[in-house]
Amino acid sequence: MSKVYDQGMKNNQTHLSAYLSERKKQHLYRSVKTSQSAQHPIMQIDGKEYLNFCSNDYLGLANHPDIVTAFKQAADKYGVGSGSAHLINGHSIEHQKLEESLAEFTGREKALLFSNGYMANLGAVSALLDRGDFLYQDRLNHASLIDAGLLSRAKMKRYKHNDNDHLNTLYAKAENPSQNSMIVTDGVFSMDGDQAPVKELTQTAKQQQAWLMVDDAHGFGVLGKTGAGLLEQQNLNQSDVPILMATLGKACGTSGAFISGSSELIEYLIQSARTFIYTTAMPPSIAAATLVSLKIISNDNWRREKLTALITQFKQGIKELGIELMPSNTPIQPIMLGSSELALKVSQELNDQGILVTAIRPPTVPDGFSRLRITFSANHTEQDVQWLLNGLEKVFQKNK
Ligand SMILES: *Cc1c(COP(=O)(O)O)cnc(C)c1O
Repeated sequence: MSKVYDQGMKNNQTHLSAYLSERKKQHLYRSVKTSQSAQHPIMQIDGKEYLNFCSNDYLGLANHPDIVTAFKQAADKYGVGSGSAHLINGHSIEHQKLEESLAEFTGREKALLFSNGYMANLGAVSALLDRGDFLYQDRLNHASLIDAGLLSRAKMKRYKHNDNDHLNTLYAKAENPSQNSMIVTDGVFSMDGDQAPVKELTQTAKQQQAWLMVDDAHGFGVLGKTGAGLLEQQNLNQSDVPILMATLGKACGTSGAFISGSSELIEYLIQSARTFIYTTAMPPSIAAATLVSLKIISNDNWRREKLTALITQFKQGIKELGIELMPSNTPIQPIMLGSSELALKVSQELNDQGILVTAIRPPTVPDGFSRLRITFSANHTEQDVQWLLNGLEKVFQKNK
């Protein structure tokens, strides 16, 4: 159903409309909403005001005045475009400073910038694996990691979610155990909010002499004492987890991504990661803004403490309403609904009350696992959370 066959223009058109109406019938149709304001708990979207619970701007930095100022000052100095790829002449002093800061912040020898997380994952995995190698993925890994595996041409095996025993079983069954292999996992699962058992995965990777890569898109900035992410929280260093990927567009509030690890790993990626080599560097002003963002992340402990307080308040309130949550201690707090139709209906009814929570449906999550994905930001207030709880109470009573 997803392929468009080349049967001439007329048939193509027929195929597209058949596909689109099928998606609508299955409650899987997606459309883009247009916002008219900055990222904030209160947002204007398609002309209406909403209390927003679906942004990944966890620390409330996307519109922070100091970060905006750094961005403007760098734009005055360097202009907007970077002009070319990092290896041509697009790598500015701001990119250089950011790579050095990211390496230091994550406790690693070096870091390498990518335009976004999708490309960082494609670039790293496909550079390190080849046809005939093995790639072990958690079943709930982000789409970009799945695509990275496909691009690498390695043989992919998916282990049960957060199940290190199942991973070991797959290794025990491997035809060629000495073959180069990699284990890759989301650090914090993007649609579930739970955390990977990284300590256990570290042991398996060491036993199997496999690469271990953690995609900490949702842990970076949020977890760990200084906000350096899941690996800081779990006390794991570069030799435990050789490849760390994190994005800058979520808690960091800017845009882009990086890989950090040993000097050799980074030098290797500079030679061979095609999504690093063959693309224009991010604007220098984004790098300059991100440098300020990193400082705020490590200085402003109160942002993480505030998030924890809001999450605790939400979980307590939800329990009192008798609504079941998924096992998550992060700012991602999903409510499982099952059918796409119900998820869409509940999300729409919340929207009608001025509360923005998106329905997450297949193929983002498996069939039958549609849900509401609620996310919190350090800029939310206690009253905002209470407002959300009131809204959920009304909607859940109606749809019981
Ligand atoms: C968002 C996300 C990405 C992609 O990052 P972008 O910078 O948005 O391209 C990769 N992995 C995970 C787990 C994510 O949540």
